[in-house]
Amino acid sequence: MAGTKTLTIIKPDAVRKENIGPILEKINGNGFHIAALKLIHLNRGQAERFYAVHRDKFFFEGLVNFMTSGQVVVAILEKENAVADYRRLMGTTDPAKAEEGTLRKLFAESMERNAVHGSDSDENAETECDFFFARSERFSNFEG
Ligand code: GDP
Repeated sequence: MAGTKTLTIIKPDAVRKENIGPILEKINGNGFHIAALKLIHLNRGQAERFYAVHRDKFFFEGLVNFMTSGQVVVAILEKENAVADYRRLMGTTDPAKAEEGTLRKLFAESMERNAVHGSDSDENAETECDFFFARSERFSNFEG
């Protein structure tokens, strides 16, 4: 059975443009429950660890610089089939190729400044939720 949670980040480009509200409205409007949420400023070490899988990619340095350039919102979203459904709502990594109505089509600037992050598997969702939130900070509809 598919998992019921995913981790999203509203990235610094979207926060800077006052798009936290519009993005959260879309998230709720598409049936996601917000189980945890906070506004934070990632430091370099956190951004490097969060994106460690991309350490050897040409865009890693730029990505870390961007992700530490301003505040971000991190949130745990809950819904049946959360990972796949949220990736569909986000749209493709490159906003120029994203479908109409997706978060990246609506709010992203570029491949790097693409407004939102979403976990890409249930396993990574677990790891990413634990990266930002203690169990006591979560208000789940699915867990006790
Ligand atoms: P996602 O799951 O759609 O976020 O994509 P990835 O996990 O592959 O990449 C993580 C993040 O790195 C993306 O959301 C982008 O912000 C950035 N990124 C990925 N690919 C590229 C690229 O080709 N160029 C640049 N500049 N940034 C990229």
